[in-house]
Amino acid sequence: MIYTGKSLSVSLLDDGFAELVFDAQGSVNKFDRQTVSELDEATQALVAKGDIKGLIVRSAKSTFIVGADITEFTDLFALEDAEVLDWVANTSQVFDRFEDLPFPTIAAVNGFALGGGCEMTLACDMRIADTTASIGLPEVKLGLMPGFGGTVRLPRLIGADNALEWMTTGRDRKGAKALAEGAVDAMVAPEALVEGALSMVKDAADGKFDWQARRAVKKAPLQLNKNEAMMSFSTAQAMVFAQAGKHYPAPHKMVETVQKAAGLDREGALKLENEGFVALAKTDAAKAQIGIFLADQLVKSKGKKQAKAATKQSKLNAVLGAGIMGGGIAYQSAVKGTPVIMKDINQGALDLGLSEAAKILGKGMQRGKVDATKMAQTLNAITPTLEYSTLKDADLVIEAVVENPKVKGIVLKEVEDNVADDAIITSNTSTISINQLAESLDKPERFCGMHFFNPVHRMPLVEIIRGEKTSEETINAVVAATLKMGKTPIVVNDCPGFLVNRVLFPYFAGFSKLLIDGADFVAVDKVMEKIFGWPMGPAYLMDVVGIDTGDHAADVMAAGIPERMARLDNDPVTLFYKEQRLGQKNGKGFYNYGVDKRGKPSKTPAEEAYALMAPHVAEKTDFEADDIIARLMIPMANEAIRCLEEGIVDSAAEADMALLYGLGFPPFRGGIFRWIETIGLANFVAMADKYAELGPIYQISDGVREMAAAGKSYFA
Ligand code: NAD
Repeated sequence: MIYTGKSLSVSLLDDGFAELVFDAQGSVNKFDRQTVSELDEATQALVAKGDIKGLIVRSAKSTFIVGADITEFTDLFALEDAEVLDWVANTSQVFDRFEDLPFPTIAAVNGFALGGGCEMTLACDMRIADTTASIGLPEVKLGLMPGFGGTVRLPRLIGADNALEWMTTGRDRKGAKALAEGAVDAMVAPEALVEGALSMVKDAADGKFDWQARRAVKKAPLQLNKNEAMMSFSTAQAMVFAQAGKHYPAPHKMVETVQKAAGLDREGALKLENEGFVALAKTDAAKAQIGIFLADQLVKSKGKKQAKAATKQSKLNAVLGAGIMGGGIAYQSAVKGTPVIMKDINQGALDLGLSEAAKILGKGMQRGKVDATKMAQTLNAITPTLEYSTLKDADLVIEAVVENPKVKGIVLKEVEDNVADDAIITSNTSTISINQLAESLDKPERFCGMHFFNPVHRMPLVEIIRGEKTSEETINAVVAATLKMGKTPIVVNDCPGFLVNRVLFPYFAGFSKLLIDGADFVAVDKVMEKIFGWPMGPAYLMDVVGIDTGDHAADVMAAGIPERMARLDNDPVTLFYKEQRLGQKNGKGFYNYGVDKRGKPSKTPAEEAYALMAPHVAEKTDFEADDIIARLMIPMANEAIRCLEEGIVDSAAEADMALLYGLGFPPFRGGIFRWIETIGLANFVAMADKYAELGPIYQISDGVREMAAAGKSYFA
């Protein structure tokens, strides 16, 4: 044994060759601080040994190395700039010292080699991958860029254009693609990996392969002439601008760094990489995106635990109501392999539900993601029916009929009378209290909310709502069914609107008030989309949700939380509803929807909407962007804080994920709690106080005031 650490060891093979094996104790292989320092010690031990002819680097696990240890990032990046710089510079020098070993090195890659794992392979002279390998630099997804030499070595290995594509999209490559692009030198079956690596490194040591020349290329300036450089970098800049936009600094910084470093050798180029990394590590976007990664891990592991505890897996689902939601849920269940009964009272609705499913599958076929067999299987797995009797074999029923408490109460009771004793019953209601709906059932313990989002096949979230009487067994089974359907479950406690709609409706109320005070909805949408980063501004979103649905849900919220959510007089949403301006569904809402001259869908601000509002709103006023953001986001933030304080949601991290997955909260802002923390709690309190006279949705809770005064964090 040449070196033994906790995460890796180096041993001698036959004929003077050696192998460095990553095999972290009790975890996947990753570059935490400990592993980095072990890599350095191992490198020194190899140098000290003196007579090594060549080295294989491999993993003893099913995956090579997944990357840096992201759980270390939050504390690390909170340090002073100079300290973060020290960390990244010191770490990247460990990789340099490894690269400089006085004999040829080869990485034998299986499974994932991502981020730091990919950079480990790049520090080797050669790479061989097996058919399970997936290689890439996904740092951009965390708002960062590679920090262990990736921005220097990859462009010198596969060319600047390819390398920038890898880095700015963060997408990993399977072995074959990596081979075609020159990022690996050979690909073999898993059982031939180590033998193949050994044979290649022996060839290199024997002089059959000029590994020194190879290494020299990685350490020299990029081989690009002026014209090529101009083409590469201007194309990359344009691509990044089109795809990432201005809210995500990381891909822009990568292009800038690779470009500036093009004429420099390894030392000079790495210095720029180190500096770029630190600049990005300190951005709010990186903090937000790292926060999302960690919150996602939390949500996933919670979900897995609950699903594991489930005593029952649904083999047959049933959906009541074949409307927008019922049809979507039936499709989702079927496509993920659980057969589903779709019941309605209306044959026309059933036909429509099925044709919606066929439409989604048809689009999948066009994009080559679905084949004819999958399409037939999925459609066959949906059984449309008008009969209750078919529910008798269902393990899980999801009620998705019209949003009317009376109708839902009757339907739920009918379901209970027709299903097996141990079947689970859920409701997809958006706003009606689960405790209230549970009253219509004899066995409320087997009932909970299962709130999908529209469009079901696209939106990742399912909010699972625990009623007072819901058993944990029910929750576990519904979490398991949600995961089986390919969705992310977040469990919350019952209240009007649950978590997502409870925080969304105060935001809409803030919007309505702003309109009443004279704001132009087009200007508001522009600020909330372009500056805040929402996929849709509030007027557009309300049109998409449906003005009827929005108005009705606002009434339910007002009835449930009258102290804050009482309806405004002359709310534009109600004015539109009364005139049957229902939004996108009938082509007229805040905007008019149609097709343009080229047949493309069009959306134009509706003169009729302005005319309807005119008698009831103040004279047109131009509000500052900050003012618009504050007037919409403070009510959302306040309600989210209340949900956390009341225990509706367990943690700020889960609330952030729910808004990200359910509403499309801008990822670079990380979620509503991350937004509050980015502003700073004390600043948030001061900002909200400034608007307090606008009404109760702007008035902050004592809890947040105390937290701000004590300098506490929602993520501590
Ligand atoms: P929808 O009007 O499109 O569909 C409702 C369907 O229920 C209709 O096909 C109707 O024929 C059927 N129906 C009515 N009474 C029935 C009964 N007794 N038995 C069986 N079927 C019956 O409505 P939707 O938008 O799909 O909404 C359904 C539910 O999902 C509502 O509770 C709504 O709040 C909730 N929801 C909607 C959205 C959304 O964006 N549309 C999002 C999340 C949740």
